[in-house]
Amino acid sequence: MTTAMARVPNSLTGQIVTPGDRRYAQLRSTYTTSASPAAVLLPKTTAQVIDALRYAREQRLPIAVRSGGHGFSGASSNNGGVVIDLSMLNRVQVLDERAGLVRVEAGARWANVAKALAPYDLVISSGDHGNVGVGGLATGGGVGWLVRAHGLTIDRVRAVEVVLADGTLVRADAEHEPELFWLVRGAGAGAGIVVAFEIEAAEQRNVGVAQLVVEAHPDGRTIREWAAYLSQAPRELSAAAVLYAEGRSALMSITAVVAAESLRRARPAVEPLLAIGKVLEHRTDLLPYPTLVPTAHLHPNVGQQRGTTTNGLFTGLDDAVARAVMRAVTGPGRAVIQLRSMGGAVNDVAPDATAYSHRHQDTLVIASVFPPQGGAALDAAWRAPGARADGAYVNFESRPNPAAFARIYPGETGARVRRLWKRYDPDGVFRPALLTGQPTRPGQQGRVGQSSRSGQPGRSGQPHRRRR
Ligand SMILES: Cc1cc2nc3c(=O)[nH]c(=O)nc-3n(C[C@H](O)[C@H](O)[C@H](O)COP(=O)(O)OP(=O)(O)OC[C@H]3O[C@@H](n4cnc5c(N)ncnc54)[C@H](O)[C@@H]3O)c2cc1C
Repeated sequence: MTTAMARVPNSLTGQIVTPGDRRYAQLRSTYTTSASPAAVLLPKTTAQVIDALRYAREQRLPIAVRSGGHGFSGASSNNGGVVIDLSMLNRVQVLDERAGLVRVEAGARWANVAKALAPYDLVISSGDHGNVGVGGLATGGGVGWLVRAHGLTIDRVRAVEVVLADGTLVRADAEHEPELFWLVRGAGAGAGIVVAFEIEAAEQRNVGVAQLVVEAHPDGRTIREWAAYLSQAPRELSAAAVLYAEGRSALMSITAVVAAESLRRARPAVEPLLAIGKVLEHRTDLLPYPTLVPTAHLHPNVGQQRGTTTNGLFTGLDDAVARAVMRAVTGPGRAVIQLRSMGGAVNDVAPDATAYSHRHQDTLVIASVFPPQGGAALDAAWRAPGARADGAYVNFESRPNPAAFARIYPGETGARVRRLWKRYDPDGVFRPALLTGQPTRPGQQGRVGQSSRSGQPGRSGQPHRRRR
């Protein structure tokens, strides 16, 4: 289907990329998904975001919002629609150094945020990868390297600037538009386009970083002990562990990060992890925080990491869950499983304070399979652990649909999210796939701009398989 063309607003001249443009190859896709949008708009200011949204709506085509393009579902691009790509809206500004208050625009990457804050000895716990965008992570949650010490990224957000579906710009905080402020912290995709966040950064220069490789016993005891220790460890300690099959057994690659300025303080927090299984490698260093999300991570997203991912939250890993997780790793599905420590400061926040309501669990388990394995293999591998999960996190779900919505936003939280999505976006401009199961209107193809021609589905770039 093609549409009548609207004139590109003057403010966006040169900032619309259609299939004939040499920039198109690097802007069409996301990290996980190759796509062929009719146009990608590149606003640099909030006013241009408003113009871009108005223009995109006039096209009557599906609209995707993109900050960093790392979303697992691939919803930040589409086929035949318009993408509003915020990558040029990427300023990081320290508003109040003493209070640690920072304004970060949605299109910045976390590597650049860490680099910009380092001279002030400030950090924002974000995620584990420097190329992830601010907008997607900070509207969904943000499970970072300092999550137990500082909470989720959303827990430190003090205000947001949002362009609503009708083009209105709203600044929301605890006192002004509190319902929008609630929604954007956990269910922001679907509320509007968040153009900037004010975040309270924490004072921190260095962190203790331990890297271990441990044999993971197939009966689940190693991961059970990992989770048991992390659930009551000092909150300065946060950790992630990647489990992967090695022949008929499995290895566990652990990165443990301590919010401490000296090795003398970091080492005791890490030490109990050396006792959970046979340690094959281990080192602990004191490193500047940006080393964890380095600018070396920055890269264009060209659909290079295909995979299918889901997740579940747990309170402790009991025998049955731990065994089921190990079977998912070593069984025929060969899932790559990641364990992330939660709890600590995350659970200081009341369940109804934000749209992320999971405030009692202490372990996040993320399961992924990679081609040639697909959704069916993941479902088989995840069936047993998934049945015992108590909630899920929106940002590690690659198949958004109503069943996932119910796990991510349970009960009253879900009802409030639905109500508010409808209030702030009555026409369904942003159409959360969590409600419809369909990120774009299937089969709809568009044509935007004079030089356009419909694009062909892209081929994946260099396959780069990262264990996650
Ligand atoms: C390699 C990798 C590592 C990761 N590590 C972590 C981690 O350690 N911790 C963690 O919590 N998560 C992690 N994630 C998940 C990550 O939080 C999500 O994928 C997040 O959505 C990415 O944000 P983005 O801006 O890059 O994504 P995009 O693909 O640009 O956006 C994802 C979705 O978010 C919405 N969105 C994006 N920007 C905005 C905006 N400005 N306003 C409103 N809605 C918006 C849109 O619906 C969009 O489809 C990781 C993902 C990858 C691929």
